[in-house]
Amino acid sequence: MTVKRLAILGSTGSIGTQTLDVVRSHPELFCVSVLAANTSDEVLLQQIEEFSPKTAVLVDETAAARLRERYHGKTEILVGEKALLDAAADDEADTVVTSMVGFAGLAPTLAALKAGKTIALANKETLVVAGELVTALAKEKGVPILPVDSEHCALFQCLQGERRETVERLILTASGGPFRGKTTEELQSVTVADCLKHPTWSMGKKITVDSATLVNKGLEVIEAHWLYDVPYEKIEVAVHPQSILHSMVEFRDGAVMAQLGLPDMRLPIQYALTYPVREAANFGRMDFKTRMGLSFEPPDMKTFRGLALAYEAGKAEGTMPCVLNGANETAVAAFLAGRIGFLDIYECIERAMDAQENVAHPSFETLCEADARARAFVRKFLENKEV
Ligand code: MG
Repeated sequence: MTVKRLAILGSTGSIGTQTLDVVRSHPELFCVSVLAANTSDEVLLQQIEEFSPKTAVLVDETAAARLRERYHGKTEILVGEKALLDAAADDEADTVVTSMVGFAGLAPTLAALKAGKTIALANKETLVVAGELVTALAKEKGVPILPVDSEHCALFQCLQGERRETVERLILTASGGPFRGKTTEELQSVTVADCLKHPTWSMGKKITVDSATLVNKGLEVIEAHWLYDVPYEKIEVAVHPQSILHSMVEFRDGAVMAQLGLPDMRLPIQYALTYPVREAANFGRMDFKTRMGLSFEPPDMKTFRGLALAYEAGKAEGTMPCVLNGANETAVAAFLAGRIGFLDIYECIERAMDAQENVAHPSFETLCEADARARAFVRKFLENKEV
C-alpha cells in the first residue's frame, strides 16, 4: 500500500483528533498534507508541530493571527473560508476527511469532490442537506464517498460482497442517548449538562445533543438513504443501549448481517481510510469471557419526535432536509447557550418545516438560501417566544 496523503478538515474536533490517532498508529500508511480548523489555534499549533502538514487553515482570522504570531515553521498558514475550499482541493492530498460540524461542511466537501478527491465522510449533514447533489457529483467524478459514521461503516462492512438487489432492510442501531425511557413531562426539566452525559459514546457537543433528541439518528437515516440508495420504507431504527452492534443489513433470504465492536470511532475512521484493505488496529477488543447482554427495543418516536421529523423531511426530499438541518443547528446552539429547553428543539424544527416551502432538486445556491431562511425563521421564532 502506498502512503495515503490526507487532508483533515475539522482536525481539532472529536473526529479530527481521532483521525490523527489513526495516523499516529500507522505512520507507514498515512501522511498529513492539510489540516484545517475553525478557531482552535492552540490545538492546531500542536498538530502542525507533530504532523508537519504542507498547509494549515484556520477559518477564523483572529485565531489565525494568534497562530501566526507563535508559529514560524515550514507549514503554510492560510486564513478564511476561501482558503478552506482551496485546502479541500489541494493537489497534495488524495483523501479528504470531512470532519467539520454542520452545514458548513457542504461547500468544502463539494470542492473536494470537484477536485476528484476520495471522501472519508464524517460530516453527515453534507449528505442530509445535499444528498442528491453530492451523490450525483461523486458519480460524475467517479470518486467514492466512504462513510466514517459508525452505523454507516457497519452497513458498508455488511454489504461487502453482496448484491444490492438482495438487500431487504437496513437497520440502524441507536443508543437512545441519555434520556432513553423518559416521558415528555420528564424532558421538560432536563439540563444541558444532563444532555451532554452520553451513556456510551464520547463525542462533540452538537452531535451529543442530536443523539439525545434522536435527530442524529434521523440525520443518519437520510445519510443511509443517499449512501446506499435504499428507500426510506426499508430503513429502520432499533434502539440498542449497549452500542456494541453498530447496525445491520437484512437480506432477501432473511439473513441478518451485523458488525459488532467497541464504541470507538477510530475503527470506522481507519476502515474508511484503508478500504478496501482491513488493516490491523489495537484500539481495544471485546471481551466475551464476561457476561454481557445485547438488547433491542423500538424507538419512542412520539416522545423523541426528532426521528419522525427526519423521516418526514427525508421523504419530502428537495430542500426539506436542509430546512430540518438548519432549524436543528440553530435550535441546538440556542439550547447549548441555555436559552431554550430541550423540547423546544423539536418545536423549532417542526415550525420551520411547516413554514418553509419545499423546492425540488435544489442547487447549491438554493440550499444555501433554504438553510439561511430556516435559521432566520428559528431565530425570529425564539425571539418572539422569549418575550
Ligand atoms: Mg453515528
